[in-house]
Amino acid sequence: MLAPLRRCDRLTPVALTEDQCLLRDTIRDFCAREIAPHCAAWDEEERFPQELMPRLAELGLMGIRIPEEYGGSALGTVEYALAVEQIARTCGSVALTVASHNGLGTGHILSCGTKAQKARYLPPAASAQWLAAWALTEPGSGSDSAALSTRARRDGDDWVLSGSKTFITQGSVCGFCVVLARTDPDVSAAKGITAFIVDAGTPGFSVSSHLKKYGCRASDTAELHFDDVRLSDEQRLGEANAGFIDTMRILDRGRISIGAMAIGLGRGAIAYAVGYAKQRKTFGVPIGQHAAVGDQLAQAQVELDAGARMIYRAAELADDGEPYAMDAAMAKLFASEAGTRACNVAMQVLGGHGYMREHPVERYLRDVKLCEIGEGTSEIQRLVIAKHLLATG
Ligand SMILES: Cc1cc2nc3c(=O)[nH]c(=O)nc-3n(C[C@H](O)[C@H](O)[C@H](O)COP(=O)(O)OP(=O)(O)OC[C@H]3O[C@@H](n4cnc5c(N)ncnc54)[C@H](O)[C@@H]3O)c2cc1C
Repeated sequence: MLAPLRRCDRLTPVALTEDQCLLRDTIRDFCAREIAPHCAAWDEEERFPQELMPRLAELGLMGIRIPEEYGGSALGTVEYALAVEQIARTCGSVALTVASHNGLGTGHILSCGTKAQKARYLPPAASAQWLAAWALTEPGSGSDSAALSTRARRDGDDWVLSGSKTFITQGSVCGFCVVLARTDPDVSAAKGITAFIVDAGTPGFSVSSHLKKYGCRASDTAELHFDDVRLSDEQRLGEANAGFIDTMRILDRGRISIGAMAIGLGRGAIAYAVGYAKQRKTFGVPIGQHAAVGDQLAQAQVELDAGARMIYRAAELADDGEPYAMDAAMAKLFASEAGTRACNVAMQVLGGHGYMREHPVERYLRDVKLCEIGEGTSEIQRLVIAKHLLATG
């Protein structure tokens, strides 16, 4: 069989198939029609746009990697990154929702779930009937995630789950949540952790607050509590005590999407700033003609293209079944920092106008900062990269 035709264009600095270009362009049109007119208001009201979720599902964006037999789009990591990048060009909050729903909660079930778990959870996830949350972070453990203290103890054939999680995306709007808990306190921190799937509404599972944030304010972020939540062994996801290794694998792919989100936000901000720099005049000429302004835009464009290449390289490695953890960490590190610098440039180019909410660049700048923090901070990416380098030589 002939390989699908691949081509490069100005929007994505790697060769894509015709189908991938079509997907990207379809999402771009959808964002212009259905997200762009509303996203500033969603952010201002700090409102999660629940009504958008079925529309995203119709486009196949809530089950990007889910196989067709479970109602998904059966696409790969490249398409996942393309989708998140395109949405982020318009709205960081919706991009974060799509990234975490696909990559974390449903991604974990896709990788480690039994047939019965996939049949129960993946179809409603793909149709957006049930949004997925994924709960690793706790008030006392973030970067040092193996230090988590949520506990699941055996009680007969069941498990009893107790503890709290924080900063959980889709926490208060989810249909189910994948929760990481310590199941063996007597072994080293990373060896005694297990994942469980907890349905919304399970007795003892509560959401205490919808957290107020600096950016991505139309995404849902909540604190979750598990007060002696009784779970059957069928709710265990993956092998008992092997949940930490699975978690690290889930984060590897998730990092590609957070890097893609940063590139999308950076590109959205720079596109806006370029339009502004052509219109706004000082000293008798459009500000883009001042070398100091043009240089900043040029530098941002170079860095965003370089970051995008790193993101799609890591995504291709993942889709080809090659090791990609170090590439994903490098790509996330570079892309998130390049995206943040680009959004800063955009604000600088707009001057005082950029600081005002009537323009979207302050929102892009607030949203992009998350990409240097979520799914492993920049400092943690450097640790991951060094660890791989030292292990492989
Ligand atoms: C909007 C948002 C959404 C999120 N969504 C989710 C979600 O859905 N599910 C989930 O489980 N979590 C989620 N998180 C949590 C996120 O993954 C953590 O915030 C992140 O991993 C950092 O953990 P922390 O906030 O506890 O910071 P800490 O771990 O306390 O780190 C504080 C600072 O110390 C630095 N640091 C820590 N250890 C080291 C080290 N060894 N070397 C050098 N520097 C170090 C960090 O880089 C950071 O700068 C979300 C966070 C945000 C902000």
